[in-house]
Amino acid sequence: MSDYLLEIAKNPYAKQAIRTLGLPIPLPPTLRRADGADVPKSLTGQQVVIGGEGLLADVVGAAATAAGAEVLTESERAHALVFDASDLRCTADLAKLHAFFHSKIRQVSTHGRVVILGRPANKERDPIVAATQRALVGFTKSLGKETGRKAITANLLTIAEGAEDRAAGALRFLLGQRSAFVSGQALNVSLTAKGEATDLNHQPLAGKVALITGAARGIGAAIATRLGQEGATLILVDRPEGQEGMGALLDAFEGTSLALDLTDADAAERISAHISETTGGVDILINNAGVTRDRTIAKMSADWWNLCLGVNLEAAIGLTETLRPKLLRKNGRIVHISSIGGIAGNPGQTNYGASKAGLIGYAEALVGKVSRRGVTVNCVAPGFIETAMTAAMPAVPREAGRRLNALSQGGQAQDIADAVAFLASPGAHGITGHTLRVCGLHLAGA
Ligand code: NAD
Repeated sequence: MSDYLLEIAKNPYAKQAIRTLGLPIPLPPTLRRADGADVPKSLTGQQVVIGGEGLLADVVGAAATAAGAEVLTESERAHALVFDASDLRCTADLAKLHAFFHSKIRQVSTHGRVVILGRPANKERDPIVAATQRALVGFTKSLGKETGRKAITANLLTIAEGAEDRAAGALRFLLGQRSAFVSGQALNVSLTAKGEATDLNHQPLAGKVALITGAARGIGAAIATRLGQEGATLILVDRPEGQEGMGALLDAFEGTSLALDLTDADAAERISAHISETTGGVDILINNAGVTRDRTIAKMSADWWNLCLGVNLEAAIGLTETLRPKLLRKNGRIVHISSIGGIAGNPGQTNYGASKAGLIGYAEALVGKVSRRGVTVNCVAPGFIETAMTAAMPAVPREAGRRLNALSQGGQAQDIADAVAFLASPGAHGITGHTLRVCGLHLAGA
């Protein structure tokens, strides 16, 4: 389903006509995304201006330089501003945020990035320090809403003390083109998952096995493509109708497929047997398969309720619990595809909202059970993404869902895949128990 405003915005004649006629039509910016596999120095040619006096600025400067960026303290034009706010300890200190961004925000080029660095507020014992660090969340979200019309994203990266050497992967993701539809998010880097953090920024998934459910089309196919591009061997799972889509992916990438319905009682066991016979284990598990069956609760049949909960939540939990003890390898990655519908709720989606919120609760509780093996578990919560699922929505809610975010457009399946590829990478070892919204800073949800 094409976005007519984006199409107009791409056409210089139509754009000029709208300007000349003074029509009040806000044209969304065309987001810049990266194609193909990640390149080793993905920030090459980008000027990153770093400010602030905290201890994180040096770590971050080194990470940005290693990724190819030119790191500066002053510049007339910059691709990105990074402000180290980790040393802000009292509310008066917040004036430093104002001073830095007031003078520099206009220097950021279209498609640029803002990253603010802090410490996790919920780990602070001193209420004043906690208030000060938590203020960074509201500041970041508001700034992202101001800068979105220029396709500039703003995100907060909090780094726990001692986890500084785990932050490079997250920084590269937030500064690069893989996060074009991620804004207003607060990512936390912690020491929770045991083991060494390795930050490989080239073919990071070579030698890894990735299992993706619902892989035949839409977001699942995009995830399979990205993980395949980064070197993973794929195990694709979808319903029998998805054979053709999975076949097309396996023409391009190494791997196998399994056609089954995830709600079948023996589905998880059949998947286990397939893994045992082929790769012997998996490193990455992506629970992506999902369905909507929308009706207000008074009109919703028990069948629709059960189907939505069965595919979206029960099958994801069942598969994870079956693979976790023996087949999920050390330093593994689990990502559940949730939804902003599971954070904010939607009328007509009590079943869907419950299932997607359930995934978030499951991920958070699973952290304690898998961290000692170095496994991380996270959710990605897409906002409005242009796929067959959203093309089937009625026109008015579809248009509202698409526009009500800071970037005034729907995301692409690739945006979700880029976020998943990041969370599945060795460089995301510090991020666990998190729900990353990929929604262009949608109005719905936290
Ligand atoms: P889609 O309908 O295009 O693809 C879903 C895939 O899951 C299909 O290939 C389908 O065959 C498979 N599937 C469904 N039920 C299955 C079952 N019982 N057994 C095996 N496979 C099954 O949907 P999409 O838009 O690509 O969404 C992918 C995920 O992203 C879903 O979990 C969805 O809830 C979530 N999501 C999508 C959006 C969006 O805007 N498109 C927003 C938020 C969350």
